[in-house]
Amino acid sequence: MLIVLKPNCSAENLENLKKLVELQGCEPVILKGTFSTTINVLGDDTKIDINIFKQQKGVEDVIRIASPFRLASRKYKKEDTIIKVGNVEFGQGRFVIMGGPCAVETQEQTLSIARAVKKNGAQVLRGGAYKPRSSPYSFQGLAEEGLKILKAAREETGLPVITEALDQKSLDLVYKYTDIIQIGTRNMQNFALLKDVSKLDKPVMLKRGMSSTIDEWLLAAEYILAGGNLQVMLCERGIRSFDAKYTRNVIDLGAIPVVKDLTHLPVVVDPSHGSGRKENVAPMSYASLAVGADSILVDVHDNAGAALCDGQQAMTPEEFGQMVQKCKQLGTSLNIKVW
Ligand code: PEP
Ligand code: MN
Repeated sequence: MLIVLKPNCSAENLENLKKLVELQGCEPVILKGTFSTTINVLGDDTKIDINIFKQQKGVEDVIRIASPFRLASRKYKKEDTIIKVGNVEFGQGRFVIMGGPCAVETQEQTLSIARAVKKNGAQVLRGGAYKPRSSPYSFQGLAEEGLKILKAAREETGLPVITEALDQKSLDLVYKYTDIIQIGTRNMQNFALLKDVSKLDKPVMLKRGMSSTIDEWLLAAEYILAGGNLQVMLCERGIRSFDAKYTRNVIDLGAIPVVKDLTHLPVVVDPSHGSGRKENVAPMSYASLAVGADSILVDVHDNAGAALCDGQQAMTPEEFGQMVQKCKQLGTSLNIKVW
């Protein structure tokens, strides 16, 4: 249940409404949208008589949305959500390109790749400081030192940064340094982490769990929205299938138009983790643009042979630049502007 407030709803009215929600055994969460404020009622609201709330002062409307993911649903919000990061906007109809190393390795490596991706057409710099590796013996990331390097790269290039938070502890630091908080595939259903992220005032990119259904993915996004953070974007990064020998994962391109129909949230594709080989990345980037994704997240390395993480799927800066140019050409024929 959602209680939409009148623009002139007073603080006193709001307090009364919150108390009334609590009296029904539910938890009120305030959602401050651009145009209106809404109270999201968490908990079992099925037995609440909505007329009790409709009669209260300061209430514009009380609505029930027939969708398991009420806030993520287009039934709640028809218009696309636009998420502003630096000078770019996700979900605005223009295709945003994010690029950078899978992992922040050294200051020199990150700065050099950051300059290269900027020169070759990226609007956002990616790079992991906390790496969720399959093996405990693999490089785990530079942690805060890596975040400081990303900050230096942002200061020098002006590119906003996206980086992953692995757990509640790293989230505090990631929040301090990053522009977009990335939640990785392995954490898509880490509900405690999602709840923590829901309390923050920074954009979040939620990767699809590698074996998650679309409903599970949107419900995970709903956790972040329901707690009050409305700046959520989704990222398709490939799902598990029976043949991972050549492509690592299967990028579920068919999910993109489905998700764009179901939700107003921006949708990103990660063609690098999604396909596992750099030869696949350009074709899958074009495909992502063509199926209506709002953005791509691409691994780029200037010495992929020596990369500490996922070198086989990293494009060189030159290959990245050529791919961006082709995205622009394709965008022209599809009438989609690439930033
Ligand atoms: C990443 O983008 O660095 C990453 C680890 O991705 P995923 O969570 O999709 O595996
Ligand atoms: Mn990686």
